[in-house]
Amino acid sequence: MTAAEGIDLDARYTVAGFGAVAFYVEGPEVERYWDLDEGISWEEPEERETGMMRAVMVGDDRVWVVDPSDLTKLGELDYCAECGQVGCAGDGRDDRTEDAMEDREREAIRERLHLEDRTADELREMVDTVPLDVAELEVVSDELSYVTELEEEHERGAHADTLRGDCPLCAELTE
Ligand SMILES: [Zn+2]
Ligand SMILES: [Zn+2]
Repeated sequence: MTAAEGIDLDARYTVAGFGAVAFYVEGPEVERYWDLDEGISWEEPEERETGMMRAVMVGDDRVWVVDPSDLTKLGELDYCAECGQVGCAGDGRDDRTEDAMEDREREAIRERLHLEDRTADELREMVDTVPLDVAELEVVSDELSYVTELEEEHERGAHADTLRGDCPLCAELTE
């Protein structure tokens, strides 16, 4: 196994000893060598990986040679794409506020559980039969009360003229 294996060149890492700064990995460090026993003369040296990696700080261009075992992978939004500091949001990438993180988490749960266009009955069945964790249960319960309201509206005929895109009963009509 070469040092490059297991290293994600698209990811960002912290490096032990460098503090809270993000690095990207350019690739393995390579050295030239010759070995007369192997028939490799110094006039025509060959290249081999040293086992170390070439890493560059985000926002900088100096190359550091680091031990791959000193690398810790960072999450997509854990670091600043401009200054490289872990925890800095100065690059303006996405919204890292707690509310925005929670919204993304809820959206991910909705997608995972395919909550789109579920009827209240289907959602109730999901609560009864599918093992859900606390966060999932909260999202499904919210969806259930929302859809229950929509269905009541629908029954009252409020959607008769303009079908509502997020109403599961309207969705059934258009299928
Ligand atoms: Zn920054
Ligand atoms: Zn409707």
